[in-house]
Amino acid sequence: MNKIKRYFNSLFLLELMKGLYLTGRHMFRKKITVQYPEEKTPQSHRFRGLHALRRYPNGEERCIACKLCEAVCPAAAITIESEQREDGSRRTTRYDIDLTKCIFCGFCEESCPVDSIVETRIFEYHGEERGDLLLTKSQLLEIGDKYEKEIATDREADSKFR
Ligand code: SF4
Ligand code: SF4
Repeated sequence: MNKIKRYFNSLFLLELMKGLYLTGRHMFRKKITVQYPEEKTPQSHRFRGLHALRRYPNGEERCIACKLCEAVCPAAAITIESEQREDGSRRTTRYDIDLTKCIFCGFCEESCPVDSIVETRIFEYHGEERGDLLLTKSQLLEIGDKYEKEIATDREADSKFR
């Protein structure tokens, strides 16, 4: 029975007709091509773009150098060095992210107990040399300072889903 069905299917080119029917259905529909960069598609508040390190409102760094993000990173893209301050608290002396290794999985963000390392909505960046994509602690803090308002709003929206 199957053989007969296959014979008629191939005789009348049914698979081809099905494909043409699908193409034909979309041929006259409104086109949805986005004219990037003039037009942009909506972004999720969970978008995983360029990383940033955040501070508390009093200016203190959030990061407590627990190194969870470094340990969880599957691409070994994060390098942290730390030392104890005079007041007994621990802070990083080095926090690098190598974006040539990063796969933007978001594990670092998920693992951070103090919401310090986050991934922003920024995706329009580039490097012309390998070193340009190695983000240092000061660069990460600078990104965090610049986009804190947007980051805080996104984290707030995200907390409703947790
Ligand atoms: S997003 Fe993933 S791969 Fe990139 S630094 Fe964070 S944990 Fe590592
Ligand atoms: S960014 Fe978060 S997870 Fe990473 S070392 Fe700092 S406090 Fe720990």
